[in-house]
Amino acid sequence: NGFVRLGLAPELVAATTDLGFLKPTEVQARAIPLAMGSGDDRFVDLMVSSRTGSGKTAAFLLPVLHTLLEQEAKAEADRRAEQQRLAAEAAERGEVAPKRPRRRNPADPRNFRPAEPGALVLCPTRELAQQVAQDAIELVRRCRGLRIANVVGGMPYQLQIARLQGANLVVATPGRLLDLQRSGQIRLDQVQFLVVDEADRMLDLGFSDDLAEINQLTVARRQTMMFSATFAPRIQQLAARVMREPQRLQI
Ligand code: AMP
Repeated sequence: NGFVRLGLAPELVAATTDLGFLKPTEVQARAIPLAMGSGDDRFVDLMVSSRTGSGKTAAFLLPVLHTLLEQEAKAEADRRAEQQRLAAEAAERGEVAPKRPRRRNPADPRNFRPAEPGALVLCPTRELAQQVAQDAIELVRRCRGLRIANVVGGMPYQLQIARLQGANLVVATPGRLLDLQRSGQIRLDQVQFLVVDEADRMLDLGFSDDLAEINQLTVARRQTMMFSATFAPRIQQLAARVMREPQRLQI
């Protein structure tokens, strides 16, 4: 499988095999290594022009999921080390080791906490957002601890809110996302990866102000990737607002 060479986590490479992707498409082969970077290059911004059908969805999902997976593994190792430290301290005092705290049932309303995703993908339409979320779900099939949520207009609020709990990656249309942010269901200040998919259609559909608002709500030190059919001047203006010195890829 040609995805091995891109340095992706084995769980993600296995998922591409499951999906029958034998080798990366051009946009994947070029964008994934750039997006993953290393060291100081980690947060390089990307502006990519490519068509639907080019494999662009996996081109942005794979590097983002790779880093989220790494972070999740590190967080789990830290939790385990802390548990061992507490157990060792208890043993020194001759006490029984404290139990690892139980995972709280997220469906219980008393356990409500706003979602704090590490990654956000914005799409212009409900259909596209659902397709991207579905692709993300397929790609994390073999990953433990990564949760994907879909936030789109037209879906009942309660269902959407329940599914948002603990989500690492949220795929959303801008309007519904801002509704949920304003009502306190989701916080965007932990978003380290922001993807704007089909940026040209986003502007056609009048999402410019929503994008500006979402841009303000997410952290400044994040990686942003923008995908668009063209690099028309209005797309460049949007790029200048949401990215810093983006690398450009024309596929
Ligand atoms: P997209 O451009 O992201 O909408 O992808 C177009 C189609 O290509 C989707 O049905 C993907 O499942 C498929 N696809 C994406 N990457 C690959 C790949 N590396 N090999 C074969 N099919 C792929």
